[in-house]
Amino acid sequence: VNTAFVTLRWLPDFGLVSLCLCLSLSLSLSVCLSLSLSLSLSLSQEKQYVGFATLPNQVHRKSVKKGFDFTLMVAGESGMGKSTLVNSLFLTDLYKDRKLLNAEERINQTVEIIKHTVDIEEKGVKLKLTIVDTPGFGDAVNNNECWKPITDYIDQQFEQYFRDESGLNRKNIQDNRVHCCLYFIPPFGHGLRPVDVEFMKALHEKVNVVPLIAKADCLTPNEIKKLKDRVREEIERFGIKVYQFPECDSDEDEEFKQLDKELKECCPLAVIGSNTVVEARGQRVRGRLYPWGIVEVENQSHCDFVKLRNMLIRSHMHDLKDVTCDVHYENYRAQCIQDMTRYVRLCVYCRAGFPKLGPGAPLGAHFVFCPSITQ
Ligand code: GDP
Repeated sequence: VNTAFVTLRWLPDFGLVSLCLCLSLSLSLSVCLSLSLSLSLSLSQEKQYVGFATLPNQVHRKSVKKGFDFTLMVAGESGMGKSTLVNSLFLTDLYKDRKLLNAEERINQTVEIIKHTVDIEEKGVKLKLTIVDTPGFGDAVNNNECWKPITDYIDQQFEQYFRDESGLNRKNIQDNRVHCCLYFIPPFGHGLRPVDVEFMKALHEKVNVVPLIAKADCLTPNEIKKLKDRVREEIERFGIKVYQFPECDSDEDEEFKQLDKELKECCPLAVIGSNTVVEARGQRVRGRLYPWGIVEVENQSHCDFVKLRNMLIRSHMHDLKDVTCDVHYENYRAQCIQDMTRYVRLCVYCRAGFPKLGPGAPLGAHFVFCPSITQ
């Protein structure tokens, strides 16, 4: 560049040309310089980029491909609107084949556990939803320990998971653990009944219990407020540990924080269900048509249905699963391991029970073969 500039400078006819050339050359030089600078900068930036920023996308893609599963239990007296609410929540008809019992048949009815499974797909995302229904709960003349079949069912699912997890093939474990239990409190009383207290206390350490005030359209807004206050106070007084919504992260946006605050203040949620679509204010809405007006399920001034649906499906499904796995199942597992150790110790002392295993046999062998364990 310098040589070109010097040569052109000594040619008088090319005075102007030399100036232009000199300018353009210096310009291109600076462009070159800045280009090389930015290139080296981007190279150094690229060096810092390892690639794990794509992890969320990978996890997302994998989860979407695999699909999600969620097990929801509904409990409460029959006629509390459980099936109607479940259908309204997931916009399906899960109870097509339900056979309703008459009063005579219900006298001797015991609590049953019925599972309905449905695959729902929305925008390519698959959800395998299992609804565990508990017909017969609280319907008998004597409701003593009517929650026992329900607690047994929850324990059985934990046990099955524990066995599968400890088995040889742990790859495709079917997870049937119950992630959430919606408990329907009748709107007619003055707070919790003894059966409600006993039920929630029997379950609160095994599953995430979410109490709901059923058929909220039977109450005026004032009555709903009073009942909610009373239920909240009784939950506290009887030491019932219902599902606690997690604290909101500080970096969440303001709208999310506001919704989270409203959700927490609204508990226990008062809900209304309907299987019919009616016309209200020129729109087709899910609601209940009465001679005096329409109750809209998704109208937030009528009930907390939308809050419940958002909580279950949009904001807290993952947390409900995490708490099931990290708290309730872990408690069960720890208890199981404790019991097993006790058995193994017992087994060492009952050598006579299985004569082939001498005193020197390993504990594991005792555990597997000793009849005192397999019984
Ligand atoms: P389940 O036995 O608990 O499953 O109750 P169902 O869902 O079968 O409902 C029993 C009756 O209550 C039906 O006649 C429903 O139409 C009615 N029902 C359901 N949800 C509501 C509600 O939110 N409000 C009122 N008023 N009635 C309801």
